[in-house]
Amino acid sequence: MTDARSDELAAHLDRVRARVEAACVAAGREPSTVTLIVVSKTWPADDVRRLAGLGVRDFGENRDQEAAPKAAATSDLDLRWHFVGQLQTNKAASVARYADLVHSVDRESLVTALERGATKAARRLGCLIEVDLTDGATGRGGASPADVSGLAQLIADSDHLDLRGVMGVAPLAGEAEDQRAVSARAFERLSEISRRLREEYPDADLVSAGMSEDLEEAVRAGATHLRVGSAVLGTRPPLG
Ligand SMILES: *Cc1c(COP(=O)(O)O)cnc(C)c1O
Repeated sequence: MTDARSDELAAHLDRVRARVEAACVAAGREPSTVTLIVVSKTWPADDVRRLAGLGVRDFGENRDQEAAPKAAATSDLDLRWHFVGQLQTNKAASVARYADLVHSVDRESLVTALERGATKAARRLGCLIEVDLTDGATGRGGASPADVSGLAQLIADSDHLDLRGVMGVAPLAGEAEDQRAVSARAFERLSEISRRLREEYPDADLVSAGMSEDLEEAVRAGATHLRVGSAVLGTRPPLG
């Protein structure tokens, strides 16, 4: 699919890829160690198709009701779907059918539901533990750092789940604070939690952090997966 929208997406994607590369150079990291996930939430399957034509393989979604049909509509493409949003247990079975990596595993009941769903779908499902980096300030979800170890064990003991690492969202900066500085501190904390997790589970080495506004800080702190939406697709249309 090539049209004016494809040209626009190509230009945005070039800019984001250049930012990632510059951040890698600045951090002394190999760009191939960083995966760009384009978060396609609120945008149509045709945009996913356009981006796939530009070489994007990894897509992120945060609502099953939107993600399931989008994954089905693009099932002829060889894509990897990342579920990055808060996940209700009653949606876990659906997500287990198309997702490759669930970034938002934050409680025991969800681990149980994902294991049941993956078993039924006869698939293996990668799991990242979402860590709450706000000290409970937002109620947005995420496991408290103290709960990571117990969740890790439950995932590792599940037959169809693979413990792959951790995910975090930086807290929103207050009025007098600089977002990039707040993000940098949060991602350093996440990186320390990842280091501790890897002492016990060396293969759980993925770190999902960084969005359109703070991807440089995430690369500096060692993120392996960036979740970028608006910098590639544009400002999201308001939810109706
Ligand atoms: C929407 C979303 C993103 C992408 O955010 P942008 O600011 O548009 O890059 C990343 N992570 C999660 C969990 C999201 O919900």
